[in-house]
Amino acid sequence: MATFAKDEERIISHAKEAVVKYNKLRKAKGGIDTLYAFVMSDSGKIYDGACLETNLSHSNICAERHAIANMILQETYKAKVKIVVVADPVPKIQEHSTPPCGTCRHIIREFGKPDTTIILMQYIQQKTGWVFPKIEKHKIKELYPRPYVPVKWD
Ligand SMILES: [Zn+2]
Repeated sequence: MATFAKDEERIISHAKEAVVKYNKLRKAKGGIDTLYAFVMSDSGKIYDGACLETNLSHSNICAERHAIANMILQETYKAKVKIVVVADPVPKIQEHSTPPCGTCRHIIREFGKPDTTIILMQYIQQKTGWVFPKIEKHKIKELYPRPYVPVKWD
């Protein structure tokens, strides 16, 4: 089991509360659980995101990028991603939690640092509510060790 720093503990408890809050809202409107992401910037503020599912699959937007866009809206492009939490609904405990997709790994690396923490959290809807049985921790540099950087021309 991973150990967590204070800010990581803080965003994990934020994520657990937010997942329950948003899922209750969705359930009340006839919706289903979805993948959420939460981003803490270097300022310590936390931004929420949810997967945007459209009827054009290439127009869908991942929760990670939604949360990062919210961060940039509030703090400009000067903000850096310190921690990302990905909270994915699963039918039962999975051996591996869902990591950010390739595009999101790139965006997290671009707007983060090599040591940006990626926390992967599985959640399960039960009759009595939502539970969080498994949490993993990674660094973006492990998930995306050699990021794409465009060549700079003078
Ligand atoms: Zn993605």
